[in-house]
Amino acid sequence: MSRIQKIADDLVVIDLNYDNTAQVDCAYLILGAQPALVETGPTATVENLLAGVREAGLDPAALQAIAVTHIHLDHAGGAGALVQRFPHLQVYVHPIGAPHLIDPTKLVASATRLYGEDMGRLFGEVIPIPADRVRALADGETVQLGGRRLAAVDTPGHARHHHVYWDRTTGDLFTGDLAGVALPGSHYVRAPTPPPELDIPAWEHSLQKVRGLRSKRLLLTHFGPHNAVDDILAQLDDSLHQNLHFVQNAMAAGEDETSIIARAREDALQAIARRDGPGARARYEVIMPVRQSVLGLMRYIRKSDERAREALG
Ligand SMILES: [Zn+2]
Repeated sequence: MSRIQKIADDLVVIDLNYDNTAQVDCAYLILGAQPALVETGPTATVENLLAGVREAGLDPAALQAIAVTHIHLDHAGGAGALVQRFPHLQVYVHPIGAPHLIDPTKLVASATRLYGEDMGRLFGEVIPIPADRVRALADGETVQLGGRRLAAVDTPGHARHHHVYWDRTTGDLFTGDLAGVALPGSHYVRAPTPPPELDIPAWEHSLQKVRGLRSKRLLLTHFGPHNAVDDILAQLDDSLHQNLHFVQNAMAAGEDETSIIARAREDALQAIARRDGPGARARYEVIMPVRQSVLGLMRYIRKSDERAREALG
């Protein structure tokens, strides 16, 4: 199976084969006068990324820019390795994410808390990017990527440092994790809600903002192009709320973390089976483990409760 898929004359999906699994994590190559990538994946899969660029007929040295939707390692972890190799590359990122690309110490510590001993295998080394290669984009600012002019749209929720990139000309929207995880061949959408920055009302607001764009096609990092724009956004919206209530009720009933995670996993497997049939395999666990989504929700609920108590004085 080929690692690349051409989805427009100037646009190629590169399968990064994250954790040796096909079709869970990708980068987009935009061709044209200033060839560019949207997302890089982690350092661990940079060779797969570069092989994909070559397979698309481009010498990787011709790449001019990288735009990342957010700084989580499955999206931007490899940006430093690419800049080390091609020092002329310009990296576009959300202003809150920019300092963590320049000094990834805190980012790596946070990911290590979540991934533990899997860190090295999944992500590889995270290499700092020289400050003069990093360009923070303001909300609505446009940037030339390949032959396209894309606008960065501030879309917090999954993380505070989240942009989607909007191509008004074609109707393509590069969603990062804003639109959730919807894998090829599946009809199920998973809400990726890992710690530590999850913010459900902010995510709701970002979804409204994105619905207003009336995009024709969603380009998910996990994974690939989806034309059923309204359906994906509606499913994501529903599952955000269902998952939040599920964890809220379980916590209120005094259920412990291990048991909540086990029940949430069972629930997710049943939902996948309902949508995709009993034979469907749970590749979703590779890229967005239920455990992490539950931990993110638990942390979010505890923080919200604390804020509510403080407000009551
Ligand atoms: Zn992701």
